[in-house]
Amino acid sequence: MADSGPPVTGTAAHDVKRDRVGLAIDQEASRKPRHIFRFADHVIRHAAEGGIIYEAFCVAYECGAESGPQDEQNAAQDWALRHSGRTGHDLFRRVVTDHAHVTRVE
Ligand SMILES: [Zn+2]
Repeated sequence: MADSGPPVTGTAAHDVKRDRVGLAIDQEASRKPRHIFRFADHVIRHAAEGGIIYEAFCVAYECGAESGPQDEQNAAQDWALRHSGRTGHDLFRRVVTDHAHVTRVE
């Protein structure tokens, strides 16, 4: 399976109620402290074990035909070619879905 490129880093907020090391306090209307958030660096990477799913959807007016989820890109594309040959429909929405792991950077 092809590498999807370098991991992306970012920051995510964690709800750490009653954790006094938090940096920000979200107060509700009563002005009582409700949530404390701590921000930590995270990285997101493609998860090969989740696989990749390929789908094609015909977007011709009132058609609604779709390839269904396929494990191989060619299977979704072949479906679109066959559908176009039968119907003359020539515009498809293609969807590629992968999975990703988010892990905290210590
Ligand atoms: Zn169609």
